[in-house]
Parts: sequence; structure tokens; C-alpha cells
Amino acid sequence: MCLLTRTMRLAAVAALVPLTLPGAARAETPATPTQGVTLTGLVGKVLFTPQPVLGSDGRQHIVYELQLSNVTGERVVVKRLTLFGDDDKEPLATLDEAEIARRFSPAGRRGNESAELGAFQYGVAFLHISLPAGRSAPRRLTHQVDAWFDQFKADAAIQLGAAAVATAAPPVLGPPLRGDNNIAGDGCCDSTRHVRALLPLNGAFRLSQRFAIDWEKLGGDGRLFAGDRKLVGSYHIYGQPILAVSDGTIVDMRGDLADQVPGALPDGLPVGEADGNFAVLDMGGGAFVLYAHMKPGSVRVKIGDRVRRGDVIGAVGNTGNSSEPHLHLHVMDGPSPLLANGLPYVFEAATVKAIDLAGTADFDRAAETGSPVSLTPFVPPLALKRALPLDLTVVDWGN
Ligand SMILES: [Zn+2]
Repeated sequence: MCLLTRTMRLAAVAALVPLTLPGAARAETPATPTQGVTLTGLVGKVLFTPQPVLGSDGRQHIVYELQLSNVTGERVVVKRLTLFGDDDKEPLATLDEAEIARRFSPAGRRGNESAELGAFQYGVAFLHISLPAGRSAPRRLTHQVDAWFDQFKADAAIQLGAAAVATAAPPVLGPPLRGDNNIAGDGCCDSTRHVRALLPLNGAFRLSQRFAIDWEKLGGDGRLFAGDRKLVGSYHIYGQPILAVSDGTIVDMRGDLADQVPGALPDGLPVGEADGNFAVLDMGGGAFVLYAHMKPGSVRVKIGDRVRRGDVIGAVGNTGNSSEPHLHLHVMDGPSPLLANGLPYVFEAATVKAIDLAGTADFDRAAETGSPVSLTPFVPPLALKRALPLDLTVVDWGN
């Protein structure tokens, strides 16, 4: 038997009042399981369990995705999204319509952002909570969506997307590279190329690159390369040794692909070659590390090899889906570089010397023109202990 009819649903949403079912208790009587039942024009869920991570700014960061589906037959405008932790009355964050239009992607497709959903359409909000310094992460997140419904010619406030927050400590890594002037490209938490790389793979959404960093190296003059932009050897990072970030076992690798010509992403690359020459390190505890785009002929580990933290496993190259030499590194919950969920991680120790506060656009300019990135130095340098270097920080590994 159908308990709720479509007519009842429309009436309930339009009226914005809880739907009281026949026979349900009245408000003044003790609560029953049928009280508080409301039909809503939007439904939502958090796609993957959020896991907080301590950033190099001393704050806990929570990066996650909230899917919203419009179950009405007309347009919905998401006007406000409010994020709450635990039973707090004060929100952790509030996104207005303009911010939603920057973070909400209909169909989860990056580059397609909008605050509106068409009839029967869904979208994914890419969210980032930066907690005040010293504040610990909540155990649970809830959301309130304030939206306009064309079908009902009315606004509604809908509670949805309750989710537990993971309490496990992120895996601790040693240095992936050597020396100074390593810059964390497309890093956490508001850059978009990795954080929003939500891919529909084998029948499900996956986001293995959520906390990936594209490591490059600056010269003493703040430039990424010297000389011809189209030669891999012009880049300061090219050929740099890549280190095992942990003791562990190599569970996958490839080493036979040639470098791409820098300056543009390759055309028509099969998805299976996106990582280029790569290695996957099982570091235990359910954490796997991907090293991608390694130099042809440099991968010196094979499947089944045991490595020790600090071992050289290859060299930085420009193979696979890469527009310039760099080390793409991320941690995930399974051995497949794409069919996995991206996990946050921290580095045991490093020194953060500067940051490019002008963001991805400035970094891209430097990559295209060969001019220096715009750095703001940390004076004195920041001693990083068990934290994740945030987007475009410049790191000295001290090794
Ligand atoms: Zn990358």
C-alpha cells in the first residue's frame, strides 16, 4: 500500500509544515514515530565519510561532498546552505547563493557550477570547513538548505545530509622529495582540479584525488622552469628523486610510457594512462599512496617489492595526463589510483617557507609565462609537525 500519495507530497511541501498522517498523535501528546515526518522537494546525502585533517595553517579542515537532488518537476534555486556540527546552534559555515554558485555542480560535473537545479536534476556541493585554530572537529555534520521552489512558488528550509565524521587520525608520511623550494600545486582545500575530481567510474562516483598535491620545484628566482617551456629538462622538478613516504609494499606500478611535451595536456589519452608511469605503495592501515607521472625508465620498484621510508623509488617526469613535469601524490583507501576514495594525510615534519596567496590563477600564469610565482614568505618559517601543507605552500623537506 502506498502510504503517501503524490498529491499529499505536493501539498506538504507547498505548505512547509510537517505532514501529519491520519491517526497520528496531536502535538500536545507525547511524540510518536510518525511525528515530524515531512515531505521535501529536495533530498540530500553526504557522498563519502568526511575526515578532518590539520592544515599547515594550524586549523582543522573538513573537505567533503553533499549531493542534492531536486525531486520536483520544476526549477529549484538553492539560496543558502548552512553547515552545523554536532548539536551546535551556531553554524560551522554558511554559504550564500553566490558562494553556492561557485561550489555546487549540477550532475557533479566540475566547471558546470550553478545555484539552480532543473526539474528532477541533482548536483554536488563541494564543501570545505575551516575550523577556528585550536577547535577540534565535530563528530557529526548536519545541513540546512534554504531553497526556492518554482513548483510551489515558495521558499522552504530543509534539514538533510546528516553524516558522521571519521575520527581516525590521518596517515603520517615522510618526505616524498628532497630539499627546498617544493611548491604544493592544486592542493587542499579550495583549488578545484583535484578536490573536485569526482568521476563516474564503473557505475559509481569516486573521488580518489581529493587531497592530491602536484609537487613542483621553484628555482631560486621563484620560477618553475628556466629556458624552453616545451622541454621537460627545463623544469627544476624534472628528474628529482621520488622517495617512499613510508615503509610498505609496492602493489602496482608501470614504467613504460614516454614523456609528454610540456605546455598542454595530451589529447585523446586513454583513462588507463592518465597516471603515466606510476607506483602505488601500500603503507598499511588501509592507506595506499599514489605517485604519478614518473620519468620514463626511472621506476625502480616492481609489484611485491618491500620498501623502507626514504628509499628512492623513481624520478619525477611528465608522463600520462600531465602538462608539465610534476609529482602527483595522493593517499587513498584502496590500491586502484582511480577506483578509491581519497584520504587526508599529514607529513611528519617539514618547514613551510612561503605561500602563493594569489592562488591557482597566479600559479598557472607562472607556468605559462615562465615568470616567478608571487610568494609571501613566512617570517620566521613555519615548522610543520604532522600537518598537511595547504595549497601553494613552499616546503623545505630538510633532507
Ligand atoms: Zn595531480
